[in-house]
Amino acid sequence: MKNSAGKIAFFKNQFVPIEEANINIQTHALQYGTGAFGGIRAYWNEKEQQLWVFRLEDHYKRLLQSSRILFMNPGYALEDLKKITVELLAKNNWKQNVYLRPFVYKSALELSPRLYNVDDSFAIYTLALDDYLDINSGLRCCVSSWQRINDNAIPTRSKATGGYINSALAKSEASLNGFDEAIFLDANGMVSEGTAANLFIVRDNVLITAPKTASILEGITRRTLLQIAKEQLNLTIEERDISRTELYIADEVFFSGTGVQLAWIKEIDHRTIGNGGIGPVSTKLRQLFFSIVTGNSELYPQWRTPVYPK
Ligand code: PMP
Repeated sequence: MKNSAGKIAFFKNQFVPIEEANINIQTHALQYGTGAFGGIRAYWNEKEQQLWVFRLEDHYKRLLQSSRILFMNPGYALEDLKKITVELLAKNNWKQNVYLRPFVYKSALELSPRLYNVDDSFAIYTLALDDYLDINSGLRCCVSSWQRINDNAIPTRSKATGGYINSALAKSEASLNGFDEAIFLDANGMVSEGTAANLFIVRDNVLITAPKTASILEGITRRTLLQIAKEQLNLTIEERDISRTELYIADEVFFSGTGVQLAWIKEIDHRTIGNGGIGPVSTKLRQLFFSIVTGNSELYPQWRTPVYPK
């Protein structure tokens, strides 16, 4: 995937041209992966000539929680983080779908791999991004031979930069073996999540996802889908352990995440899921999700932050 980054980034407490947002090779975070990041989307609404940022506050709440777990501090309060982000999008004059990458990282030029007493910095850049994975033709997935890192080893809930080695190993293995994506099992052998997404299954019209204790990242899209499934589609939802073989017999399986949005899965470990097409629950949820994030629905206005004056 080629990056087409926005011209302006936020780096070392100011807005700078992206070419100037560079770090020293001695940086702690580069050596040890001592950072935490976020991934936020903003959707361009052509009719309204508006860029809507989805669940901005919730994303920064999570980044602050990640920071707390990792003894980090972005140096900005929640309101300031939101303000900087909206200003950055406006400065880049984005008029298309955008992905935002805010992160807090150990920016000190220090050698010892610890978290306390090492200086932090906050930075953010933006890039144009439509679909990260194919969301239309169905994904072919494998259960990874790599186990999901346990929250008690590298806190998965913290979206720690270094933890993504785990995702990168699984994604590489899956791609090299001819699959689109990998599904992780946790240390107990239960389904955890994808490499950059949470996972849902549908069985007999019940929407099921792994619990927060399955070494997952507590996804904001996951939370969104659970809420709209319950409130708008009257679906029964379950947050519970999922066994590997339930994947094979599920009626529908899909990934959820800011990047992947809602990406349905047609095959897992060479078994066809359902009838091999997108299922009715995935279809309805996807339609509802996109209408909400793009501002084409009036539902949940509190989740959308406008970038341009209304
Ligand atoms: N799990 C992992 C490992 C991820 O990287 C992501 C993407 N941020 C998700 C789940 C989905 O989280 P969200 O819906 O907040 O983007």
